[in-house]
Amino acid sequence: MPRPERSYRTPAIILKRFDLGEADRLLTILTPQYGKLEAVAKGARKLTSHKTGHVELFTRADMLLNRGRELDVVNQCEMTAAYLPLREDLMRGAYANYCAEMLDRFTSSGEDDGAARLFKLFDETLARLCAETDPRLVVRYYELHLLDIVGYRPELARCVIGGETIQAEDQYFSNAEGGVVCPKDAVRGTATTQISMRALKVLRHLQRGGYPQALIVPPELHEEVERVQQGYITYLLERRLKSVDFIRRVR
Ligand SMILES: [Zn+2]
Repeated sequence: MPRPERSYRTPAIILKRFDLGEADRLLTILTPQYGKLEAVAKGARKLTSHKTGHVELFTRADMLLNRGRELDVVNQCEMTAAYLPLREDLMRGAYANYCAEMLDRFTSSGEDDGAARLFKLFDETLARLCAETDPRLVVRYYELHLLDIVGYRPELARCVIGGETIQAEDQYFSNAEGGVVCPKDAVRGTATTQISMRALKVLRHLQRGGYPQALIVPPELHEEVERVQQGYITYLLERRLKSVDFIRRVR
């Protein structure tokens, strides 16, 4: 949805912030209608700023923004969720940071495709990162659903080479093909990693629907799930960055 001509009100989560000049801050925010945006919070670094004082990282706020020629300007900012543990607990903060960075790298500013789903997912993830005892499962769930929204949903039910239904046995995962490959079709050494049936079941469970509150994953299985997902994400980001580089060079 294009932003209104003059000013608009929106919920927003602060993904990134940079100091700008003496008193201002440049924010990267996520909104449910307009996707990811950059905006300036004027005077945000002054202690006396009441209007835009609450521009802490990973908070949710209701914002009133004015359309600028280059950058929009935050006119009012009222915090609606503080997510305090993300700034008080180093580990929870580190996971939130990772989630924000992943979102930042898989999206472009002003892209509103799937913005509402993305906002909901990110907001719920921050809340879970504050509350859950094991943040790793929160992050794995987030990764899978973010990939789905940005168009890289991994195929976990059928072999991505032969198309046949995956049998209950250990399998392979192809980063290049974006999904599971059966042992028969697996070509070793071409970005294909092994994945146990148990790990595949965890992935499917996470991909299928709502957040699995009651799921308990043993540590070694957790490591395997993380290794497979990280391999896929790293592969996608490198390809994405290369494609961005390529477009720049062509220009
Ligand atoms: Zn196959």
